[in-house]
Amino acid sequence: MMNEVNPWSSSQIEDYERMRKEFGIPEFNFDMDNNIFARRNLIIGHRDFSKIYESIKRKSKFYAMTGLMPSGDMHIGNKTVIDLIIYFQSKGADVHIAVADLESYATRGISLERGRQLAVENFLLNYIALGLKPCDFYFQSESAKVQKFSYILSKEVNMSEMKAIYGFEDAKRMLEIESPLIQASDILSPQIYGGPAPTIVPVGADQDPHIRLTRDISSRMNIFRLNTENGIEISIGGNDDPADAMKIAEKTLRSNNADKIYKNPKYRTVRADGENVDLFNLTEDLAMAERTINKFSTIAPSSIIMRLETGIKGGKMSKSVPESTISLNEDPESARKKIMRGVTGGRETVEEQKKLGGNPYACPIFELYMYHLSKDDKDLGSIAEDCKSGKRMCGECKREAADRMSTMLVELREKREEARTKIDQYIRVENEL
Ligand code: SF4
Repeated sequence: MMNEVNPWSSSQIEDYERMRKEFGIPEFNFDMDNNIFARRNLIIGHRDFSKIYESIKRKSKFYAMTGLMPSGDMHIGNKTVIDLIIYFQSKGADVHIAVADLESYATRGISLERGRQLAVENFLLNYIALGLKPCDFYFQSESAKVQKFSYILSKEVNMSEMKAIYGFEDAKRMLEIESPLIQASDILSPQIYGGPAPTIVPVGADQDPHIRLTRDISSRMNIFRLNTENGIEISIGGNDDPADAMKIAEKTLRSNNADKIYKNPKYRTVRADGENVDLFNLTEDLAMAERTINKFSTIAPSSIIMRLETGIKGGKMSKSVPESTISLNEDPESARKKIMRGVTGGRETVEEQKKLGGNPYACPIFELYMYHLSKDDKDLGSIAEDCKSGKRMCGECKREAADRMSTMLVELREKREEARTKIDQYIRVENEL
């Protein structure tokens, strides 16, 4: 499964349980304040979400980060991540959104000018229409800060690792190979330039490799490595004399109420009893304290990992299969035709459907309701029940989905027009290279 799970694969992930086991992804069991995706089990796992959970609970600083590749329209599969970013923004997140125009230039041959136009017209306007408040929206190609940091962090990764994670072959061009490092830089840059703090990156299951790589890079670039499995142990990385770092670690431990502090210069470790220590505060304080000796210290980013939406024709929903997805800028009539031609979990004939019922959990149309078209659980529950009992026929079910989709698209179209006057509140102005 290793190389099948990556952002460029067109295959749908069939077995999330296996994926969780293979990549060590914990199940998601956090209370997200009744968030629709959490309560419908559409979040299949997470990495280190407890940091975000605590940040929200304590009302402390955290970042939310996502990116978009401007290679076409924003489709409904991209909407889920933005719905989550809007949710985290409502919980206090400082939001950053990267336009991966260098990646679309490298992998799809889209000029930077066209990429900019697509990012604003097809994505940003929809983000604002969906409810995103002002945030930091920037272009990789214009961000000297992100590019500079990407160059620095590339020291931490070698080619074997990139091949193992992404399955890169020798014929790959260097900018394509560089793209994941630019994305790692996107994810860590808010902390590099705005100070260390937890960062949430909502991703589809196929994007998990980026998160694994970025978490590893973050930990490799840090001097302090905190281990809390048996008491508290801070090991000091790097090749410099560890004396200064050990003093800073000791001072940070003391200010966090640690007892019985023991420094071992030979093994470059500082140990302590952690009984009275708040680990959330200690993690943040250490990253902050490390800044005096290492300006690249960060807290490893967290993620929530979403179940991938199935395309209307089956398989992975992707903009490269236009008949299988619906663009948010699409004409409602065209969206209706796609839905009416979609595959379902229904039976071969009306008689069989009435007698045996359908299977909503193997039905892309039902997924449309679950992700986008039914906010009310009672409504969704009755669609599922009526399907299973044979009371609901696929034709009428598709018609209703098409009507709801049409209403959503018309509303978005109107809101996009209002959004046009606000885009200056979002786009970052940085020195062009
Ligand atoms: S009735 Fe609706 S939910 Fe059930 S299988 Fe048909 S299209 Fe899917």
